[in-house]
Amino acid sequence: IACAQTTHLFLLMRLQTSAEFVMFDHRVFVNRSLTLENIKCYGFDMDYTLATYKSPDYESLGFELMRDRMVSVGYPHELLRYTYDPSFPTRGLVIDTIYGNLLKVDANGNILVCSHGFHFLKGDQIHSYYPNKFIQRDDTDRFYILNTLFNLSETYLYACLVDFFTRCTRYTNLLKGYQHGDLFMSFRSMFQDVRDAMDFIHDTGVLKEQTIKNLDKYLSRDPQLPQLLTRIKEIAKVFLATNSDYNYTEAIMTYLLEHNNKPGSEIKSWRSFFDLIVVDTRKPLFFAEGTVLRQVLTLRLNPTCMLADLCFLAAGSSDIVCDLLDVKGKDILYIGDHIFGDILKSKKRQGWKTFLVVPELAKELQVWEEKKNLFEEMKHLESFLAEFYKLCPGCVADVPVGLCLQVLTYRLDMSYGQMGSLLRSGSRQTLFASQLMRYADLYSSTCINLLHYPFNYLFMAPPTCTQRPPVFFHSFHSGHSSSHSFRCLTRPLPTLLHQSSLSPTILS
Ligand SMILES: [Mg+2]
Repeated sequence: IACAQTTHLFLLMRLQTSAEFVMFDHRVFVNRSLTLENIKCYGFDMDYTLATYKSPDYESLGFELMRDRMVSVGYPHELLRYTYDPSFPTRGLVIDTIYGNLLKVDANGNILVCSHGFHFLKGDQIHSYYPNKFIQRDDTDRFYILNTLFNLSETYLYACLVDFFTRCTRYTNLLKGYQHGDLFMSFRSMFQDVRDAMDFIHDTGVLKEQTIKNLDKYLSRDPQLPQLLTRIKEIAKVFLATNSDYNYTEAIMTYLLEHNNKPGSEIKSWRSFFDLIVVDTRKPLFFAEGTVLRQVLTLRLNPTCMLADLCFLAAGSSDIVCDLLDVKGKDILYIGDHIFGDILKSKKRQGWKTFLVVPELAKELQVWEEKKNLFEEMKHLESFLAEFYKLCPGCVADVPVGLCLQVLTYRLDMSYGQMGSLLRSGSRQTLFASQLMRYADLYSSTCINLLHYPFNYLFMAPPTCTQRPPVFFHSFHSGHSSSHSFRCLTRPLPTLLHQSSLSPTILS
């Protein structure tokens, strides 16, 4: 018996060790514990989830199409001189439509970074606009959050407009806009024009048309994607739910899955990788009341569908997906890149398990590796300050310490880009980071990283004050009929955002 127990423990440790040694940039990070073995259905978004667009080429295309649209509706031709600069925008910024500023804020609306065009405002300048360095971000009429990767080109275009009109001598700078003769142009109307240009390139199909014409230029094709979907389909149901239309989905998925086979292997229809395909979903509405369901193709793809001829659908709702696939919300792991449309709504409205794809994580991890010394320096300075105030309550800390922290924060921010990290500014977390922690059970730079874990894996969240301490080496039978006789247990994985007693994190 002792021998059997030792062997069992040894196997568990080996599995655990192999998972822990998943290369850092291939890791899936954990906010809430989740057992893959309990997942009966995997759902995928398409754009920026299965379909990885090449950055910055794709954002440049979006920017140029929008910029040209602005000129065609009457904006000055000088705007054509601007080209997309990927080092400026970060996802998750907020546009203040009254003062025309771009803001990076934390979860409570405290301002971390503020720019007017490409000019970054200093403390006293920020105070003149926002006396408490704080915004009521619930005021959605005034503040607009640029949540998606599609918004990056829009963010940059708005900064270009403010930069141009601020510096152009034909226009007078006013607090809420610009004056040109009798014409007053408010920051708000400029924002609306940028939004309209964004809608124009999406609704008229010009962005999709250009993308389909140059798939090799704008789309990355991961040779492991067919393998991932095949492995998942062996153990669970799989569906695709995308806001894109039928023709675009057909073109993109054909490119990703049918032109992605090994030489000499049989070509499988891309549809055969899924049990159910839903296009035109209109997320986030899809996770609420939904829209009228339409049938796209009358093909019988897979007998798992209760309604045999309805496996390729348009619109509908998440409830219909559950009915057709005969699964409950808690059995579904939904994988998407949109923090609001994919993750927040599916979690809050339907209780689905969620996996957020954050392509920027590749860069975040790279900076963390390369700038470890700066993070360490910041940690030491903050510890010093904490100790100082503890030992000498009421004292004022030496000015150079505060200044050093500011300089370190600036140097770290610049390592990511002009607007800094997606997740933090110095040691303070962004609004995006707080939403990621609240609504995404798991997150990673790409869904392909699931391939680095067995599909009965237990992702265990790091310990927090409100949780009891984790138990590392439990062994038990799963009762699952697959070839796996036990569930893989693991130590809590380090996350980019949590403090972990086991591994250093950026913030610890
Ligand atoms: Mg998407």
